[in-house]
Amino acid sequence: MPSLIENIQRHGGLADRLTNRLIWKFAGARRALATDVPLVSFTFDDVPDSALDQGAAILERHGARGTFYIAGGLAGQVEPERVLIAPEGCRELAERGHEVGCHTFSHRRIRDMSRRELPRDLDRNAAYLAGAGVAPPPANFAFPYNAAWPLARPEFRRRFRSCRGAGEAINRGLVDPLMLKAVEIRQPEAQARALTRWIDDVAETPGWLVFFTHDIAARPTAHGCTPETFDRLVAHAVDRGCIVLPVDRALDRLGW
Ligand SMILES: [Zn+2]
Repeated sequence: MPSLIENIQRHGGLADRLTNRLIWKFAGARRALATDVPLVSFTFDDVPDSALDQGAAILERHGARGTFYIAGGLAGQVEPERVLIAPEGCRELAERGHEVGCHTFSHRRIRDMSRRELPRDLDRNAAYLAGAGVAPPPANFAFPYNAAWPLARPEFRRRFRSCRGAGEAINRGLVDPLMLKAVEIRQPEAQARALTRWIDDVAETPGWLVFFTHDIAARPTAHGCTPETFDRLVAHAVDRGCIVLPVDRALDRLGW
């Protein structure tokens, strides 16, 4: 009988949502997350230019910085609803004190890459970011499509301090750094605004709340939100006494 992992591999794209839910069962070496102050990280995937123009600027106005997971293969891409940042945007983020993370080069699901393709892809993204003037090399990773993939753990452990999926949960207790959980900021807008409840939750019982989103625009895509809502979330985190940190600095603080 095929194992659960084999089934997931075989049914690939058809079962993303189910896969992304089941995959947490395969979290591995866990670390104790001990913090007496609530930690919040705001992260961006891909990354659209509005995440730089609006998202980064909003974080900075609150004295905070974010983590931007870049897929070099998307650089400068013009899509119907968004434009992705080019190398200059990556460098600007780093210069402004934000963390630039890795999101693969090709933006393919990890489970669809062979054992030889994955290291090549990750090398290519590291070279892209180095060429963009981003230093040091990315220390943290986010799975494309949030499709965490435990079989690739040895490759990720060699390269990164953490890997982020989705999972719609606060990281608390025993946590696998190579499968960090995160909460998505997305449409509908009313639902995005109501995400302050997650901040209230982590403020009451400290842990590490990682948000992820894409564009921050007046007319956001399904996977983004408006500047007003993003500002409200960041302000709420600060008001509730959360420490807002890029992923890499949160890991430092946790002593991981
Ligand atoms: Zn992505």
